[in-house]
Amino acid sequence: MEKSIYLDHAATTPLSKKAFEAMTPYFSDAFGNANSQHVYGREGAKAVSEARATVARAIGAKPSEIYFTSCGTEADNWAIKGIAAEYASKGKHIITSAIEHPAVYTTCKQLEKFGFEVTYLPVDGEGFVSAEELEKAIRPDTILVSIMFANNEIGTIEPIKRLCEVAHGHGVIFHTDAVQATGAVRYDVKDLGVDMLSMSAHKFYGPKGVGALYIRNGLKIGKFMTGGEQERAHRGGTTNTPGVVGMAVALDEAMQNLENDAAYVASLRDRFVQKVIANIDDILYNGPKDTSKRLPNNANFSFRYIEGESILFSLDLAGVSASSGSACSSASLDPSRTLLSIGVPVGTAHGSIRFTFGKHNTIEDVDYTVDVLVETVRRLREMSPLYVKK
Ligand SMILES: *Cc1c(COP(=O)(O)O)cnc(C)c1O
Repeated sequence: MEKSIYLDHAATTPLSKKAFEAMTPYFSDAFGNANSQHVYGREGAKAVSEARATVARAIGAKPSEIYFTSCGTEADNWAIKGIAAEYASKGKHIITSAIEHPAVYTTCKQLEKFGFEVTYLPVDGEGFVSAEELEKAIRPDTILVSIMFANNEIGTIEPIKRLCEVAHGHGVIFHTDAVQATGAVRYDVKDLGVDMLSMSAHKFYGPKGVGALYIRNGLKIGKFMTGGEQERAHRGGTTNTPGVVGMAVALDEAMQNLENDAAYVASLRDRFVQKVIANIDDILYNGPKDTSKRLPNNANFSFRYIEGESILFSLDLAGVSASSGSACSSASLDPSRTLLSIGVPVGTAHGSIRFTFGKHNTIEDVDYTVDVLVETVRRLREMSPLYVKK
């Protein structure tokens, strides 16, 4: 068989077999609408209610605090626009970071068009948001702080508990996009103290097209999707029963094996990073050097003098699937906002590749990828007019 190595787990993950099997009946025999008042409906409702309890348990929430959505992007949109709508009379200032996923970033950009003011906090050279900067940015009219739990491009794990304390010290609501962190980092929403948290199933070996927003009981928030009485009248739309069931099974599986899986994936990543640094000159290793503050699966490099797109193309030809940064913006040729924010020069940012490992990868995958990468970078640099051999 042709070689095919998947190193893009931050974009999406393969569906867990257990999740797939748990979902299957809800596509066929158990097709009932979970909101219908008959035996078919009750069967669906029971499955959704169990799934809600499982997801809640995984993050230390109560089932009544979990609202299923159609994806992580929807959860982010709801959190931000819901607070904006509910508290606009109190204030119109929102604080986020410069390195948020487009689901948060473009949502804030859109709110600016509707009269909201947004502060995009800068980050340091490893992508960390500072509690002091946040403290300085808070104003009397600040209604929301939204800072991601872990960055999708460079793997930075933000000090969420501390940032949340700062926001709450001023009575400001705190949301975190935990789409990359969930299933990779163990956390408890009550310990973190956050008011809202977004997650997405397909990032932790669950199905695509289903996510959840944790909303702390007692928090007032506007509806995002108006419609029927689903999700306790907070989010209209017929429940995606198979999706919700698959999400819960995948999350439960991820939580049970979290430490082992994280250690294994990190060992592959660390081997890869060591080999790349030892064998290729003129590179930047982007993101935190302290692996305890970095997602276990993430490695991000800038290769000077060459284009990321050319590297990706060569890797793809050799059967290695990686990413030039965020899958969401790879169609555009703009350099990554995240890399520019941590101080990578524009030209260098263009030569960047993200490798994100998963639990099905092997040491052989790592070693083969390093070999291909070393050869690719050597060949592309030889053709590059910018490159001067040392
Ligand atoms: C993937 C991702 C999202 C979007 O989730 P979808 O379910 O694909 O909409 C949001 N935030 C982060 C950090 C992500 O990695």
